[in-house]
Amino acid sequence: MNAPASPKPPLTLYLAAPRGFCAGVDRAIKIVEMALEKWGAPVYVRHEIVHNRYVVDGLRAKGAVFVEELDDCPDDRPVIFSAHGVPKAVPAEAARRQMLAVDATCPLVTKVHMEAARHHENGLQLIMIGHAGHPETEGTMGQLPPGEVVLVETVEDVARITVRDPERLAFITQTTLSVDDTAGIVAALQARFPAILAPHKEDICYATTNRQAAVKAIAPKIDALLVIGAPNSSNSQRLVEVGRAAGCGYAQLVQRAADIDWRALQGARAVGLTAGASAPEELVDEVVDAFAARYDLTRELVETAVERVEFKVPRALREPA
Ligand code: SF4
Repeated sequence: MNAPASPKPPLTLYLAAPRGFCAGVDRAIKIVEMALEKWGAPVYVRHEIVHNRYVVDGLRAKGAVFVEELDDCPDDRPVIFSAHGVPKAVPAEAARRQMLAVDATCPLVTKVHMEAARHHENGLQLIMIGHAGHPETEGTMGQLPPGEVVLVETVEDVARITVRDPERLAFITQTTLSVDDTAGIVAALQARFPAILAPHKEDICYATTNRQAAVKAIAPKIDALLVIGAPNSSNSQRLVEVGRAAGCGYAQLVQRAADIDWRALQGARAVGLTAGASAPEELVDEVVDAFAARYDLTRELVETAVERVEFKVPRALREPA
């Protein structure tokens, strides 16, 4: 007689809400899908439309071609700019080449671009809190001439930078930063430059703020946190950091179920699960299924906000061909 299978260990999976796709990512993906429907393949996309391999591979299979520079696009096919935004020189070059260009920059990133332009017109120099090399930072800094935006990444950077006139400054931020770390940098900026102007309304977007708040709410209940997201996704990386700062000894980014280090979770009785703003819910389902296959699973939803934000796609795509 076969020995009875050993029972699965019990585990509670706390699902953070909100998690996953934000309105800006949803819109950017729709833009590529609608462009493919309207103009046929290939449609070129400058940079990954959103930072998620699963999403990018799915769109590639439908005929999207992802390139890093406009130089890699032919003149006679549509080109889409990613949700992260682009330096001003990019749409200008597309217009010079008479290309059909569609801007999928998230409207909340565009809002920061406009803020930067307004301060520049008023003669202020800008300080941007952001991550060097991230496409959103490059796109935002590229709205103004070189030298007009100074980047700071850390509190220490604030002491190191030189500015034209400490009385004529404003700051802006990347939309996907850690709310808590940014508050520290802002405090350092205001201490060194008391006259610096702050944004009218927080630049860190609602989706970033809500996802971080949900992680903080589940952190006291869990032994480990998994964040579904890509290594180049800023908001996903910040969720891992927020989990660690909130006391999670093990907080790990995974792109999908195959990346989970099950040995590291041995002994855990409660695990938190969230997803960055560019990670689709299919990947959350995949991870939940992987847990259900190994554990006697109890699912608990921890909802700290309900999001109803939606952004329209550009008119060019809403009008008939
Ligand atoms: Fe827009 Fe925020 Fe989503 Fe970025 S994370 S695409 S800024 S809503």
